[in-house]
Amino acid sequence: MSQHYWSPVVRGLVPYVPGEQPKVANLVKLNTNENPYPPSPKVFEAIHAAVNDSLRLYPDPDASALKKAIADYYAVDSSQVFVGNGSDEVLAHVFLAFFKQAQPILFPDISYSFYKVYCGLYEIDYRTIPLNEQFQIDVADYHHVNGGIIFPNPNAPTGCLLSLAAIETLLQANPDSVVVVDEAYIDFGGETAISLVNQYPQLLVTQTLSKSRSLAGLRVGLAVGQAHLIEALERVKNSFNSYPMDKLAIVGGVAAFEDKAYFQQTCQAIIDGRELLAQQLKDLGFDVLPSAANFVFARHPHKEAVQIAAALREKAIIVRHFKLPRIEQFLRITIGTEAESQALVEALKAL
Ligand SMILES: *Cc1c(COP(=O)(O)O)cnc(C)c1O
Repeated sequence: MSQHYWSPVVRGLVPYVPGEQPKVANLVKLNTNENPYPPSPKVFEAIHAAVNDSLRLYPDPDASALKKAIADYYAVDSSQVFVGNGSDEVLAHVFLAFFKQAQPILFPDISYSFYKVYCGLYEIDYRTIPLNEQFQIDVADYHHVNGGIIFPNPNAPTGCLLSLAAIETLLQANPDSVVVVDEAYIDFGGETAISLVNQYPQLLVTQTLSKSRSLAGLRVGLAVGQAHLIEALERVKNSFNSYPMDKLAIVGGVAAFEDKAYFQQTCQAIIDGRELLAQQLKDLGFDVLPSAANFVFARHPHKEAVQIAAALREKAIIVRHFKLPRIEQFLRITIGTEAESQALVEALKAL
């Protein structure tokens, strides 16, 4: 009875399961790649100033102030920028706008698990391409007829970075379908592919303010590409929700892009914390994949990942474990504050 009224597609859905957000005090929360530092003080000022009578009115359906701030930041035209309620929403629109094709889309076997979920929702065929032995994307493996290609760069949950040169090789070999680079973690040491969008009409780059700009709670994501791709996304958005960006998200997002100094300072602190933690984990005997993200992906040659995760949890430290083929022995550990990383290292030493 419970599914009696459901449409067939809903019966078949396998929804994404977000990392836990436990309501426990004093937790060392290293499981969802949130930023340990607060948002820029300028974001708070902008949001406070926008809490007024004008909330009575609908926001700008085009979020043009936010698009302009992003366009200025990346030196592109506003017509090349799309914004949405988190990059998850942007990605959902991307799948419908570009990937619902006769041929399957391609993405890595070990990657962001939401991609399969969108394929289920929009009834899109996909084919996964295995990462190589070093858990890296090899673009030579993507020479297949396809309805589109998507991968995170750096990849999640491995943290491994693909060079811009490799991305260009892929674009040159694949001119006829859209290639999406999901740059959720690019600010922690990678180089954005936005510099390539004017050369490649099939390239779309997505980003989020959730990780490097400490605004996971505000829900702001974006895409940059040539105007013809953005127009397709606007068509989907305006067939779904005219006002995905509320007034507070628009002004907060603008302030986040304007405060470059704070952004650079917090990103650098996370990069320094990552290099230190990676070394400490190696000293404890872990294999640590090279990371360009705000997390590390590590395995211990003699200890079961599930058991390490359970033992850490006893000490109120939460990390992410994926019960998936090839990566069952790995833990994904978000870079926290110096104190949080030290608490983790002490707990691991005690184990
Ligand atoms: C976190 C993440 C996102 C989603 O970010 P939101 O903007 O918070 O929706 C997208 N892609 C990858 C690879 C991520 O890790």
